[in-house]
Amino acid sequence: MTDQTTIDLKRFNNNAYIEERVIAADLADRGSVKTALRYLYLDDGPINLPRDRQKIAEKYLEDAERILIRWLATRTNGSERKNYGSRALITARSTRYRCQQCGFSDVRCLNLDHIDGRVDGTEFACLCANCHTIKSRQKDWSGKALRQKDVEEQTHYES
Ligand SMILES: [Zn+2]
Repeated sequence: MTDQTTIDLKRFNNNAYIEERVIAADLADRGSVKTALRYLYLDDGPINLPRDRQKIAEKYLEDAERILIRWLATRTNGSERKNYGSRALITARSTRYRCQQCGFSDVRCLNLDHIDGRVDGTEFACLCANCHTIKSRQKDWSGKALRQKDVEEQTHYES
């Protein structure tokens, strides 16, 4: 692993950048690399990444990209598709792989939170692990927000 764990904002919606990466790949692999990079970086890019294309593209990806693509493709095409789907990708992509709460950008720490929609048209939020945990702790286990009274009682018991 290198220590490169953040995605440069200049890559988004940048077809020239994608093309540069694509032509650096072996001829036979270029289609897969193109699909993978468009999936990661274009707002109007693919919302699915077939497994065979992902596999071929991975050897051309940076560590941060490989982490992202495994995280996302599991949700758009893999075992978590039912629980997430393409809207999860669209959310993460539109946040530029940064926490919507605090801006944290290490892709290893990102979570997709199911919520009432911080991004138009979706029901997910892209949050870092800390913000995700803090948000979860503000609710009881049924998902309901703690009432102020409960918070006061808890504080009372603890003191
Ligand atoms: Zn955060």
